[in-house]
Amino acid sequence: MTQDLTQLVAEIRESEAQFIAIRRDIHAHPELGFTETRTAALVASRLKEWGYDVTEGVGGTGVVGQLKRGTSSRTIGLRADMDALPIQETTGLPYASTVEQTMHACGHDGHTAILLAAAYQIATRGEFDGTLNLIFQPAEEGLGGATRMIEDGLFTRFPCDQVFALHNAPGLPVGYFALRHGCSMASSDTVTITVTGKGAHGAMPQQGCDPVVAAASIVMALQTIVARNVDPANAAVVTVGAINAGTAANVIPETATLKLSVRALNFETRDTLESRIRSIAQLQAQSYGARADIDYRQISRPLINDRNATDLSISVIEALVGPQRLMMMPDAVMGSEDFSWMTEKVPGCYVMLGNGVESQGGCAVHNPAYDFNDAALSWGAAYFVALTQRYLTAA
Ligand SMILES: [Zn+2]
Ligand SMILES: [Zn+2]
Repeated sequence: MTQDLTQLVAEIRESEAQFIAIRRDIHAHPELGFTETRTAALVASRLKEWGYDVTEGVGGTGVVGQLKRGTSSRTIGLRADMDALPIQETTGLPYASTVEQTMHACGHDGHTAILLAAAYQIATRGEFDGTLNLIFQPAEEGLGGATRMIEDGLFTRFPCDQVFALHNAPGLPVGYFALRHGCSMASSDTVTITVTGKGAHGAMPQQGCDPVVAAASIVMALQTIVARNVDPANAAVVTVGAINAGTAANVIPETATLKLSVRALNFETRDTLESRIRSIAQLQAQSYGARADIDYRQISRPLINDRNATDLSISVIEALVGPQRLMMMPDAVMGSEDFSWMTEKVPGCYVMLGNGVESQGGCAVHNPAYDFNDAALSWGAAYFVALTQRYLTAA
């Protein structure tokens, strides 16, 4: 196996120049969630060239490329994300973003190029028995691209036994991978609470109902949820990141607004947080004679790595780079990932791919100075190819 994979990495490296060029082209032309038309067209045209059955417009700007070989009913899904972020790039690179306030600051340009490089290798030189589904999803950055694809029949039109994805990880050396069994990333919910009272002159509070006081009380009471309602062995976060009310010192406003970010590492805790936040906001507001309207949005689910899919990933990574370059993550990350909606439907595994350290790929994602490290591209592609060949090998 190791001998085969050395050959595989060498073959992928031979053709990596064209995929680095594609990555930089996508980087120069970033597109925000659900507007990835140029990127999707580029992906679709390459996949067609290499013989994939291509379906465009899945869940908006999503693309699925399918390749069937042999007679096996086994089927695997590999997913990449294509969207950029509303950030003004400061890298000064020759292929820097040509679009104002739009930038591939999370490396999704790299993920798209990695999956294309894998697609090319599998189509031109891969031997397998079964069905390969390449899922290029839009709008990973909090806009619900995975959900849109699922609602558009992703897994009924393109059934997958297992689904896999990766994300570049600044701070992890190139050629290294990291993952963990079970929950890998937190659920993420965004909540807007609008507290409505009654405006009045600041000198005559008895004539109004002050939403600022009610909102302040809600903020304090929310802090008891993690402390008093969540099992101390589970991590959870309730952050009030924004509080807005009023315009002048001597005016009691009509409304006050709170914006929350809520995180949990399992479904039960996530549900507890939602129900406690709703109760506290409504009942606290009511106790002051005010009203709370709650807009509660689930951005992502807890990302759960399935045991079998994770074991498969571990075995493939160990064969590819050796066990010393596979880091088993001791804890889940409180960040979130849209891929979690897919792993809730289909068993899957999400791995971190080394993007490099310090000046070679170490800049954090979502930073205006970030760039995907092209040296990581072939490692990501080799992982996807090896995974496909391992899973879709005739028994
Ligand atoms: Zn991101
Ligand atoms: Zn990302």
